[in-house]
Amino acid sequence: MTFNPESTSGVLHRPARGAAINAFEEMASRFDEAARLLKLDAGLCKVLREPIKEVKVAIPVIMDDGRIELFIGYRVHHNIARGPAKGGIRYDPGVSLDEVRALASWMTWKCAVMNIPFGGGKGGVICDPRKLSRGELERITRRYTAELMDVLGPEKDVPAPDVGTDSQTMAWLMDTYSMHMRHTVTSIVTGKPISIGGSRGRVEATGRGVMIAGREAGKAHGVSLEGARVAVQGFGNVGSISAKMFFLQGAKVIAVSDVSGAIQNTAGLDVPALLEYVAKTKTVVGFPASTPLDASDLLTIDCDILVPAALENQITAENARDIRAKIIVEGANGPTTSDADEVLQKKGVIVIPDILANGGGVTVSYFEWVQDRMGFFWREQEVNERLEEMMVQSFGDVRDMAAANGVSYRIAAYMVAIQRVAYDMQMRGLYA
Ligand code: NAD
Repeated sequence: MTFNPESTSGVLHRPARGAAINAFEEMASRFDEAARLLKLDAGLCKVLREPIKEVKVAIPVIMDDGRIELFIGYRVHHNIARGPAKGGIRYDPGVSLDEVRALASWMTWKCAVMNIPFGGGKGGVICDPRKLSRGELERITRRYTAELMDVLGPEKDVPAPDVGTDSQTMAWLMDTYSMHMRHTVTSIVTGKPISIGGSRGRVEATGRGVMIAGREAGKAHGVSLEGARVAVQGFGNVGSISAKMFFLQGAKVIAVSDVSGAIQNTAGLDVPALLEYVAKTKTVVGFPASTPLDASDLLTIDCDILVPAALENQITAENARDIRAKIIVEGANGPTTSDADEVLQKKGVIVIPDILANGGGVTVSYFEWVQDRMGFFWREQEVNERLEEMMVQSFGDVRDMAAANGVSYRIAAYMVAIQRVAYDMQMRGLYA
């Protein structure tokens, strides 16, 4: 280990993603509208809008070359009225406290829309995982976990993977927490490898849920998945599995993208072959039997279903004007700005919002937590059947709320969620 007084972590000074569009304000504008329509008590409104706990941690790490580097991490609890804070951990250079706040809030609403007994939380570390070695990532994860020992817990706060983290990250987190507790605590985290307490079907759950949401939206709005043209932005966990699930339903996945670029094939991409190609090359770019596509054109390509599955604020008032999809199914959290929502609504584009469309992931995380606490693990078919049932139920709840109030699916989803959390908070009463 060497001490270098010149050493500064470049990532600390990088501008946060979407600095011009504040993700938390984007969430709050939808919350305010739904709360107004529900005629929610003004005091309760204040309480439900604000995260209840925000923790910042400094994470010193010895890098592979012996330097000490300092990373900054966050963990935010938005609301825990219905159960432990639940939400992923993001490793990305664009992480900011406002982004983590927004993501934590979306988790509260998502868990309530899916009607699972969790509150909302989220975490993040400002770092670029693609530029870090496996050892450096492990040390960041372990120190981040150790700093949060008082915050985390199977009954308090249960993390999961998000952008830049995966089942290996969760295994390190589970091990660190367990070492501090002096016994193995599998239910501290979800999205773990199956052999150490993970659930069958968890890796596929978000993408499977996106497909189910798209299928149900298609039924309601005259688009059959058989032969439907689908475009997917982002080809990580959510994007790649969504593409696979749509492909398996007979849809034609005509374009996909990742951070390196985009590809298309109007006759439909061979998704299983593409998955094998990406496993080897780490990018969709250069896939045989496809032609390159300008990444910015992916969102406006002529298709039936568009799945943004990358990051926030991708669909803006500017590009929304040119969107030709009939249905947008939000695999990512917060991919559409509130200004874009207005444009899309005027154009008659159906938007299935994040807090419903990608709720399959947290639903199977809930199943994983339940299985860990029981110490009894379910067959994959059982997981998938329960997920199917809960996605269809939640889609129906939101569709009925939208129809009853003449509002978009997004505002209806917030109304369903806020109503559930507000009711439970009122039942519990205010401890003062
Ligand atoms: P991931 O890290 O596995 O994949 C992210 C993908 O997005 C990668 O393919 C990356 O190359 C791509 N990407 C990044 N910037 C891009 C850009 N500008 N244009 C096109 N592609 C870009 O992450 P993930 O777990 O798939 O998460 C994706 C989104 O889904 C996030 O918004 C996340 O919060 C949300 N989400 C994830 C889960 C889950 O279970 N993993 C659940 C619910 C919601």
